[in-house]
Amino acid sequence: MILAPYAARPECSRGRGVAEPAPTYRSEYQRDRDRIIHSAAFRRLEYKTQVFVNHEGDLFRTRLTHSLEVAQIARTIARTLHLNEDLAEAICLAHDLGHTPFGHAGQDALNDCMKPWGGFEHNAQSLRVVDLLEDKYAEFTGLNLTFETREGILKHCSKTRAATMGAVAQRFITGGQPTLEAQVANLADEIAYNNHDIDDGIRAQLLTLDQLRAVPLFARHHDAVLRAYPQAIPKQLRHETVRRIIGTLVGDLTEHSRQRLAQAHPASPDAVRALTEPLVAYSEAIAAESRELKRFLREHLYRHHQVYRVMEKAKRVLRELFEAFMHDPRLLPPQSHAETEAARDEASRARIVADYIAGMTDRFAIDEWERLFDPRRLK
Ligand code: MG
Repeated sequence: MILAPYAARPECSRGRGVAEPAPTYRSEYQRDRDRIIHSAAFRRLEYKTQVFVNHEGDLFRTRLTHSLEVAQIARTIARTLHLNEDLAEAICLAHDLGHTPFGHAGQDALNDCMKPWGGFEHNAQSLRVVDLLEDKYAEFTGLNLTFETREGILKHCSKTRAATMGAVAQRFITGGQPTLEAQVANLADEIAYNNHDIDDGIRAQLLTLDQLRAVPLFARHHDAVLRAYPQAIPKQLRHETVRRIIGTLVGDLTEHSRQRLAQAHPASPDAVRALTEPLVAYSEAIAAESRELKRFLREHLYRHHQVYRVMEKAKRVLRELFEAFMHDPRLLPPQSHAETEAARDEASRARIVADYIAGMTDRFAIDEWERLFDPRRLK
């Protein structure tokens, strides 16, 4: 790995919460990545919704396959820009660990439930998972990841919450930037979901090619595919178009960021952190096209009648679980119940309930709801 001066270097890391001897065969960021992959929260991503609820079909993206696609895109960009590929990968694989069941609907429902006690933010929750909730190491709580991986995981954060989180959240108060690897991970997330949501949306028959042709970025690539392969079957047309869009977005992002890096030429990751704007960015034209694609997906897929109905039901499940556990903590599993008994106030009790619910997979949440509310279920 040839690293640019502005790339994160494990030997210059701001370190781990609890100091540990350096790994023998791996870099510090490889060790972070490996701990993330071995975590229980990572395995649960397989059964958490991206847009489609897990049981809607076996071919749709889940949070696990989404995270893998994000990491794959970010690694290519990081390697091309001579950034630290291992750090970018670790951030991507961990970025969604704090997501609730049922995607954004679940997050909104839990945020509403938690309003009186500081709300619920999935990025902050991802950090909470790796800092506190994973509990299988004897020498420390959480995964004891490096500062740089933790900094990258915390993609968004409200100022109020940031004030309680220390150095890792400082930039949300002072207006600084995270490492370039975190900036790459952030945009790779967007490239991945925009494109796989087109793909899943068409396959679920919630979107049509005709509708999508209203999006210039889609129409342009779809035309090119039709010209090149007039005999292609629908599956090929869809895939050939989507892969070209990914190629365009990744190419533009890489080239435009390369120019911005050459111009600004920050001397170190700390020089990157001190900037007011991210250096990893699309050209203006592609940024506008990407925004338009996002707008289209919001309007036609995420707010689609069929998605809406499933998501409203999902919100109800989470709300009712939350209310039941808050009302009677003895309904929680014994370990969480014991924690609520030891909690010093209502806010801490609510946070224990939120942690328990956020950790659930889609199918576990539905099952738990049935166990609590269906009188015919004995256990
Ligand atoms: Mg994501």
